[in-house]
Amino acid sequence: MASPAHLDRAVVEGVVRQLVMERLAALTRPGESALAVHASARHMHVSRSDLDQLFGPGYELTVDRTLYQEGNFAARETVTLIGPRSRLISNLRILGPLRSRTQVELAFTDAVSLGLEVPIRLSGDLDGTPGAVLMGPHGIVELKEGVIRAAMHVHMSRGDAAHYGVRQGDEMKLRVGGDAGLTFGRVRVRVADDFRLDVHMDTDEANACGLHLTKEIELFK
Ligand SMILES: [Zn+2]
Repeated sequence: MASPAHLDRAVVEGVVRQLVMERLAALTRPGESALAVHASARHMHVSRSDLDQLFGPGYELTVDRTLYQEGNFAARETVTLIGPRSRLISNLRILGPLRSRTQVELAFTDAVSLGLEVPIRLSGDLDGTPGAVLMGPHGIVELKEGVIRAAMHVHMSRGDAAHYGVRQGDEMKLRVGGDAGLTFGRVRVRVADDFRLDVHMDTDEANACGLHLTKEIELFK
């Protein structure tokens, strides 16, 4: 069972990494978009109807802090996730805004501690994924599917995609320098006009490459 203390630490580390990487981003050459890298601790996105069930009809999420991608935020609200054999994760953070389908994003070690086998998927690609039980202050949701390990991906605008010569769905490489440095080979490209150039990885991946130690990041084809 994951303790709340561990989650708090993961969230704090996420904030620290965000600060470190944004400082790095300022060092990028002029004329190029600054490259940011963010490590996401486990979290969930929630639909209107599931939020009603978990927190009460018409409930609105409260913003705890805004995230790097425009309009996205970490909510103050959390739920308890109950996996098979009654293993659970408490204080699973909700990220806003609301989505059309509820989705839980776990790191590999989270899934192992729950005894869940979760596939690596891009956000929103949920068919055939495992479910879980979610418990909020108002009620529970029996999620039939929607638990994934998010595939590492990079958000970018059309202009950035043209700059790198890539398109939606392509894969790129991310080199992270430093003492534990390594190169990730399958960073999926996601393009939208309002995206800021930003790689998302989970806490396992961030720990593996020593993201908090690095002074060097490079995205390439
Ligand atoms: Zn993302």
